[in-house]
Amino acid sequence: MSINQGSNTLHSSKANSVVKVVVNTPLRRSFDYLPPENPPSQLLTGLRVRVPFGKRELIGLIIDTSVESDFDFNELKRIIEVIDQEPVFNASMMKLFKWAASYYHYPLGQVIHNAMPAHVRQGKALTASNNNTVKHEEIIKDLTKELVLNKQQEQVKASILKQSNNFHCFLLEGITGSGKTEVYMQLIAEKIRLGLQVIMLVPEISLTPQTIQHFQGRFADNIVAIHSGLTDKQRFNAWSDARLGDADIVIGTRSAIFTPLLRPGLIIIDEEHDASYKQHEGFRYSARDLAIYRAQLFDIPIILGSATPSLESLHNALSKRYSLLSLELRAAEASNPTFNCIDLNGKTLSEGFSEQLLDAIKEHLHQNKQVLIFLNRRGYAPLLQCHDCGWTASCPRCDTSYTLHRHSPELRCHRCESQRKIIHACPSCQSNTLLPIGLGTERTEKKLEESFPNVPVFRIDRDTTRNRSKLENTISEINKGQAAILVGTQMLAKGHHFPEVTLVAVMDADAGLFSSDFRGQEFMGQLLIQVAGRSGRGKNAGEVLIQTHNSTHPTLNTLIIDGYKQFSRTQLEQREMANLPPFSYQALIRAEASKVSLPMDFLQEVQNITKHKLSSSSSTFTLGPLPAPMEKRAGRFRFQLLLQSSSRAELHTLLNHLVPVYEALPLSRKVRWSIDIDPLDFS
Ligand code: ADP
Ligand code: ZN
Ligand code: ZN
Repeated sequence: MSINQGSNTLHSSKANSVVKVVVNTPLRRSFDYLPPENPPSQLLTGLRVRVPFGKRELIGLIIDTSVESDFDFNELKRIIEVIDQEPVFNASMMKLFKWAASYYHYPLGQVIHNAMPAHVRQGKALTASNNNTVKHEEIIKDLTKELVLNKQQEQVKASILKQSNNFHCFLLEGITGSGKTEVYMQLIAEKIRLGLQVIMLVPEISLTPQTIQHFQGRFADNIVAIHSGLTDKQRFNAWSDARLGDADIVIGTRSAIFTPLLRPGLIIIDEEHDASYKQHEGFRYSARDLAIYRAQLFDIPIILGSATPSLESLHNALSKRYSLLSLELRAAEASNPTFNCIDLNGKTLSEGFSEQLLDAIKEHLHQNKQVLIFLNRRGYAPLLQCHDCGWTASCPRCDTSYTLHRHSPELRCHRCESQRKIIHACPSCQSNTLLPIGLGTERTEKKLEESFPNVPVFRIDRDTTRNRSKLENTISEINKGQAAILVGTQMLAKGHHFPEVTLVAVMDADAGLFSSDFRGQEFMGQLLIQVAGRSGRGKNAGEVLIQTHNSTHPTLNTLIIDGYKQFSRTQLEQREMANLPPFSYQALIRAEASKVSLPMDFLQEVQNITKHKLSSSSSTFTLGPLPAPMEKRAGRFRFQLLLQSSSRAELHTLLNHLVPVYEALPLSRKVRWSIDIDPLDFS
């Protein structure tokens, strides 16, 4: 069995041939080596090699061979050893890496390094793992049967199957609870029947053991899960099972998109709008966008699914680059939840709760149902302030206020995660009256415990779910179905199925309405609809209550009265008028240093060079340099320069020319800087 899918270029290892190797360095180039003393019969692209590099030895990957070198042959060193018998990645995967390196303007060696499990990076052998991934304890005998699809689901499935032998990108816009997962599973089953493999990406938090069990219940053990909770060995085994064709299904978070497959047949991106698909450090790729390119390279179909599609994907679908499919009804017996605003203006609030909301909670609990309270801020209170002089406790390294935490009592900076002991006397006026200002999930939890002492309250946020198994226990406790209150951050919004929840309450919808980020309203709309989608997923009708001081705001009203479909089309029109993405293309250049003038001076030079290069007819312009909204973090000052263009090709051609010039600036060595293509996060 050969693992070559596309054929890797063949070259005879003649003594004079030059081998081009990439290694894990920030240098944007490959390095020339001579073949080893006893070369194998073929030097293929994708083989790992051990090479001398300065005073060190590194593991690299062959990307090409040539008879020429820019260097004198006498200066070239020899490859020490060719590690593999056969390539780690086939030719198509190598193409994917090259495309990613050029699109994200990131060194190829580091792209590939990022894509390899630790064992492979370290040069360990690629022996088959013989299916020894962590498996279910008991062998599942009774697999769950396929459900009978409803008419809409049937149509979606048929449309996809009709065009599923070649590359085709589908956007499945299906409301929460419309049975997208069932459609995915039936399509996966079709592919497996044909002997093909499937990759399904899910957002970080959705990949709970329950998701995996749900799939194992249908497909037995032919599944590997790839996520951040694996040990290096587990990760390597999962990767290897996929690569050798021993696993039919790969379910994974962002980085799983780099998993090689022997017989790729389908890619699914669930909750395609989710921001966790974009890596926000180092190699800043979008797993969704890479997945689309991968599907194209492998000539296989890809499905992007969401109840709240990103405006990028929606725009591509509406302009017919993707096929738009929709599911507009909830599957099973569930009906769509009803939405109502609670106008907070002039109302007396008790720890953020209006009387109307407390009454509604009581009512639902009385019916023995569950209630979900959404507040997107963890901790007890976002501010600790002196009542006598106005002093506030703030992080000296970030110039931002500390969040008061009570569960593990401390003041914590949510920017740099530094912490200090809680202060009881004001350092400015010695007053003992320090007040917690504002609401976090801990404070809301406490209020709910006091108001409803006989009902369990489960808090779900980053602080309570650091430990995967703890989150798991909480979820199974909730799904026992007794009356309960769930309080949490956006973690609660992501794909969970809590059938007994009939009331979802949004504590404060106002922040997202007035965000300075041009994607602020889009994100608010997605979050609100996703949270609301946790309501009424079982037999009982669901209700959504939204507390706001802006109950007549047109954006909020479009969203809750007309729904996300209308909301998103309106948002798209506004983006088009403002010439913002997806109607234009952006690259964000960030720079930071502990001395405030350095990043500013560096970006000013970058801007001068860029402007100089732009012709008068160019559609590209620069904006900035400006301090980042989060100007100081962990003792470093942060600035950014935005490049925007109506032409993606023009923007990338420009960057191809200029990145080496930016890199050669003396100031570039005094700051930490990066390029973010298609940036989502401007903080
Ligand atoms: P989505 O992924 O679109 O949010 P799910 O796939 O989780 O929706 O489906 C929601 C619920 O509806 C699940 O409990 C699922 O088992 C059920 N369901 C889906 N399709 C059908 C069907 N055709 N008949 C009956 N129940 C269904
Ligand atoms: Zn004071
Ligand atoms: Zn800080």
